[in-house]
Amino acid sequence: MTAWMVLTDLDGTLLDHDSYDWHPAEPALQALQTRGIPVIAVTSKTPAELASLRLEIPYLAPLMACENGAVVIDDRAGLQTREVLGEATDTLIDWFEHACRETGARCIGFHQASDQQVAEWTGLTLADAGLARDREASLPVYYPAQWPNRTAFIEAVEAQGGRVLEGGRFLHLAGHADKGTALKWMIDRLHIERTVALGDGGNDDAMLALATIAIRIPTAGTDRPESLTSIQRASQPGPAGWNEAMLSLMGQGLFDGTRGERNE
Ligand SMILES: [Mg+2]
Repeated sequence: MTAWMVLTDLDGTLLDHDSYDWHPAEPALQALQTRGIPVIAVTSKTPAELASLRLEIPYLAPLMACENGAVVIDDRAGLQTREVLGEATDTLIDWFEHACRETGARCIGFHQASDQQVAEWTGLTLADAGLARDREASLPVYYPAQWPNRTAFIEAVEAQGGRVLEGGRFLHLAGHADKGTALKWMIDRLHIERTVALGDGGNDDAMLALATIAIRIPTAGTDRPESLTSIQRASQPGPAGWNEAMLSLMGQGLFDGTRGERNE
């Protein structure tokens, strides 16, 4: 008997890029729940944001990776664990400020923005914007549409040992941990080797590259070149594409006769 788990990005993948609605994915989420297959959020969101989102989306497993894989949480009763796998936000802020000084970059880190500004960039409520700014081991960066010294900025971050990941809305400063690190942590934690991963952004690539089955959720209105070779592409953006891609896998019998948790 082979067990599977599903790892999914949230913004622009399970959640609509603009409205944050997840309901178009409910038929597939329900079918996965019926089969006992855990659906694990792997997101750039913070633990505080995810705690509030889990109250809205009853299908998410009590395991999750936040802040682009830098913070992983197992919230199952009796098994509660929380680990920080990445560099502290203070270190990322040092790298960011050094790279800005060196290149004259005019981008804005979340630590420099107000809740109001983050709400305007994201369409989140003011309260949710506050939760989004409460970071432990990641740093989203807002950047201007025309940014001639973007490559120089990225190189200046990398020269200090950091990385710059491209999300759907922001760049994300990161250290050695990414969503691929989180995927490996989940495999160790659940003893489930077979994974379906879904994501829309460049910050999902490390997770998609390690998954048994990788599904790219397209972005509305843009035709971003695919960076990975072994990947399926959903036919629609956001939760509608998520729903269709997962129902299609189930229709092909991928999970038949399996349970999400291995019997031990
Ligand atoms: Mg995304």
